[in-house]
Amino acid sequence: MQKILDYFQQITQIPHCSFDTSKLKDFLVSFSKQRGYEVLVDSADNILIKKGTSKLIFQAHYDMVCVGEAPKIETYIKDGWMMAKDSTLGADNGMAIAMMMALIDEQKECEFLFTNDEEVGLIGASSLEFELEAKQMLNLDSEDEAEVYIGCAGGVDIEASKSYDSFLQSKEFYEITISGLKGGHSGVDIDKNIPNAIKLFAKFLKDKDIQIASIKAGERINSIPVNLQAIVFCKSELKSQKYIDVKKIDGDFEVVKGGEIIKILDNFKDGVISFNDELNIPNESINLALVTLEDGELKIQTSARAMDDKGLENIQKDYEKYFKEFSLDVKCEGKYPAWKPQINSFSKEVEKAMIKVFDKSKFKAIHAGLECAIISKKYPNLEITSIGPNIKSPHSTSEKVELVSVFKTYEVIQEILKDMKF
Ligand SMILES: [Zn+2]
Repeated sequence: MQKILDYFQQITQIPHCSFDTSKLKDFLVSFSKQRGYEVLVDSADNILIKKGTSKLIFQAHYDMVCVGEAPKIETYIKDGWMMAKDSTLGADNGMAIAMMMALIDEQKECEFLFTNDEEVGLIGASSLEFELEAKQMLNLDSEDEAEVYIGCAGGVDIEASKSYDSFLQSKEFYEITISGLKGGHSGVDIDKNIPNAIKLFAKFLKDKDIQIASIKAGERINSIPVNLQAIVFCKSELKSQKYIDVKKIDGDFEVVKGGEIIKILDNFKDGVISFNDELNIPNESINLALVTLEDGELKIQTSARAMDDKGLENIQKDYEKYFKEFSLDVKCEGKYPAWKPQINSFSKEVEKAMIKVFDKSKFKAIHAGLECAIISKKYPNLEITSIGPNIKSPHSTSEKVELVSVFKTYEVIQEILKDMKF
């Protein structure tokens, strides 16, 4: 088990931020060749490592989100958890790489698939072309022990835009600032009733006679918006309230009529569209993520998710129609498929192994994207399941991984291999 931590430590010292992964690729290639494995690298720098007659594919991505000091990573251990000083740790998905290296070192006759640039839009997985031998694949990119993942959401970004005629206006302007909201991931946190800065803004100005000079709202397409700044013209007095700071300002600004824009944002049905009680996650959702209004140009960006492809198509159609009713131009981008939740014979095997080690197990699906979705579309006959050790706050400088959980997850892997009778 110490071997896994040593390998992980080694990985942290090899830079592998997304879009800059070649050093870790070279390392993994030579590590595996030295141990007598056949190594293939494709044009997207995905790596397939294999030996003998493989009955099982292990899969992880080998890029990481670099935040703070990363790729300079200094690890430390506190209360049984490993963290990094002022940077992401890269346990997502480096701990899986370390476990796979240990299996390679143990000469396991399996296929080991390392995908590139997952964190920046599932890029590697999207161009996978390797021929795979085994009919079952274990993805190691989940982040909760004693859980067996059997499905994930697909998604699409829906963007709408429109030009409004502007005219010069003076006096009676207000600067509106919304801040201090909790924020969260647009998929896994969308059912947690986290206030959305854009919806608060629309509700605040609803039924008021206003003109708008500018709006700038939201941080990124996959998070629930925390901040908003806007300059509006209003003859009646606007007052600050919780989360909303209002300040009177002087000046002349180009403005557009505000009524329609506020109506578009206020009537927009944001959040969970339907819920899956069986899996206890949203089935379909949409996040009103970003809005800008500048020089009369309105741009709205949303991200929709669904646990099956049909559902995703329906949301896309409904919201395209919604925006078109207001004569907005709509375009859809970055669509990726869902991995429809399904218990297969392999996930049952994994559940058995999980119960042996943890005395418990739970089938789960996640309302966010995983590479499993793309891989299952490319290899429809492959049975896929995903597991992983406890990792908290990935993609942030508070990322941490529980070491006992890593060891136990490795035990689960050994149990799965035992049961497959090599
Ligand atoms: Zn990951």
